[in-house]
Amino acid sequence: MTSADPPGTGSPPQIVKSVDEIRQRVRAARASGRRVGVVPTMGALHAGHLSLVAASVAECDATVVTIFVNPTQFGPSEDFTKYPRTLEADLAALAAYPVDLVFMPPADEMYRPGHTTYVEVEGLTRCWEGASRPTHFRGVTTIVCKLFHAVEPDVAYFGQKDYQQSRVVRRMTADLDLPVEIRVCPIVREPDGLALSSRNVYLTADDRRRALVLSRSLQRAAHLVDEGERDATVVLQAMQEVLGEEPAVDLDYAVVADADTLEPVQRLEGPSVALVAARVGATRLIDNCLLHP
Ligand code: AMP
Repeated sequence: MTSADPPGTGSPPQIVKSVDEIRQRVRAARASGRRVGVVPTMGALHAGHLSLVAASVAECDATVVTIFVNPTQFGPSEDFTKYPRTLEADLAALAAYPVDLVFMPPADEMYRPGHTTYVEVEGLTRCWEGASRPTHFRGVTTIVCKLFHAVEPDVAYFGQKDYQQSRVVRRMTADLDLPVEIRVCPIVREPDGLALSSRNVYLTADDRRRALVLSRSLQRAAHLVDEGERDATVVLQAMQEVLGEEPAVDLDYAVVADADTLEPVQRLEGPSVALVAARVGATRLIDNCLLHP
């Protein structure tokens, strides 16, 4: 990790493809006293991903970005093969930051022939995204655990955009005593409220307009709570009313839940979160908002 170039000068970051090499290079950096941050991504980078990179750069001495479209977190009928892959643009975007290494393993480097071992968090993974995508979190926790073992970072950066994922990753890290600090960064949105997502490129112009109903419903929830509403049923009804303004948006779930357990709440007394998921055209979108009663 002794890049000859000064950081963030526009030169593309160095690419590492093997587990052995990334482990060796990060170990050397940590041995020389550097705090190493990792930002796990599936590529198709946007300003949301880059906010995690910026956080790592600000808080750590060295930053590793991983780009890996993880097959095990996609269901059989999901978009693994057509998931956007924009490697050149990703590397160009990362060149604006002092990223030390990009870890970009081929699929068979992360999943060796005959791979049959998975990491599974129980409980938290059964509801919401887990109910709609039964094998999704098992894929996420397996790859995050493997990336933690390959990179051995001090800190790992995730987005609140995937709120349930952030809770599941925290649970796994605590349960397996993984020596990695988990940081969760705020959702980056378009000026009109749409949460940035690599999947937004699938949206037609009409979908794009309709998709705003998700963030609008969350804004409504946050506004009610700010004004003093504590009855979660009232907040949820208001969200559903807003979501109903776009009948073509096919709601998967909307819920007001405890921010830790993700169980639905009746009253907003402690830290809570409003979560929504919906299909807009052919694209499934998720969004959320923390509620601070
Ligand atoms: P992905 O490439 O979709 O797996 O996302 C990689 C990381 O970026 C995850 O921790 C996401 O939660 C995070 N992320 C995705 N979209 C956003 C966003 N709009 N704002 C902040 N973080 C995000």
